[in-house]
Amino acid sequence: MSRFKRMPLIERYREYLPMDENTPVVSLYEGYTPLVKLPRLSAKISDKLTVYVKFEGMNPTGSFKDRGMTMAISKAVEAGSKATICASTGNTAASAAAYSARAGLVCAVILPKGEVALGKVSQSMMHGAKVIAIDGNFDDALNIVKGITENYPITLVNSLNPFRIEGQKTGAFEICDDLGHAPVYHAIPVGNAGNITAYWAGYKAYKEAGKIDALPKMLGFQAAGSAPIVEGHPIEFPETIATAIRIGNPASWKRAEAARDESGGLIEKVTDEEITEAQKLLAATEGVFCEPASAASVAGVIKKAKEGFFTEKSDVVCILTGHGLKDPQRAIKICDPFIELPNSIDAVAEEMGLK
Ligand SMILES: *Cc1c(COP(=O)(O)O)cnc(C)c1O
Repeated sequence: MSRFKRMPLIERYREYLPMDENTPVVSLYEGYTPLVKLPRLSAKISDKLTVYVKFEGMNPTGSFKDRGMTMAISKAVEAGSKATICASTGNTAASAAAYSARAGLVCAVILPKGEVALGKVSQSMMHGAKVIAIDGNFDDALNIVKGITENYPITLVNSLNPFRIEGQKTGAFEICDDLGHAPVYHAIPVGNAGNITAYWAGYKAYKEAGKIDALPKMLGFQAAGSAPIVEGHPIEFPETIATAIRIGNPASWKRAEAARDESGGLIEKVTDEEITEAQKLLAATEGVFCEPASAASVAGVIKKAKEGFFTEKSDVVCILTGHGLKDPQRAIKICDPFIELPNSIDAVAEEMGLK
């Protein structure tokens, strides 16, 4: 097979996943996302670090959620399910809606009203999901979904669904396959904490299979206004501009702590200002446009570098969980306004300082 031919993700890593002979493959050709080395940004941050980003915004629906969803929806079809449901800050919904459409399943998504980026809402609507916004936050939406799935024959596709985590392990496999080893540090935003759990499981599975010799240290970053793991208690009213990680009571809380402790890593918080600065820096110095929540990983690495945390030459992979185009309203808000001029060459030349 040509090395440029893409396979469905769960076929590519079949031996590491709960694939049965008869498991159908519901795929939009997710995965194979670019691991981008950032020399300009690395030089700005630290003389010790080589920074890479894994740009998960390049998945079919624009976020890493597709890695878990291809697995979860395939298993739902295998089990004979006819309908799916999820609570979502937006990206799980977009992915569930797309993969459910692909499989011919009915899909319902429960969103916190007014707190979901516009691009994400548009996706769920276009893919034909039943979109329900509740008067509550993500944690409330997840409670509703749990209540529904306990009482009705509908498949839950939040990361409480173990197949989601299984599929998301493939992110770690791709990083190791691209680098030829695991990075020294793995930096990642933490919301409901499914992804940090999945990456850690993925690295461990690859080590067990003899594909890598050493495991990375896991560096998780929450937004300061919604940092339950850092504070040590649930946050009733989580706040942050990074809506994808605006979660006060993460479902995989304990497993995130286990990833941190087993790897000798840390979970810390970054402010909305630090997140915004990192998002702009990535876009303006390296041409990589991620959504705010994603930038928490880079913001965290910048913060730790300033504190002198990185003392030896090492590489770090930051997961950029979703695409910047998911949340264009926020992007426009944080940039200088564009310039309006008359329809004139002279006026444009003058504005550009050419005359
Ligand atoms: C879902 C999501 C997260 C958080 O991932 P968890 O698995 O909930 O910790 C971070 N960033 C983006 C863009 C997301 O969609």
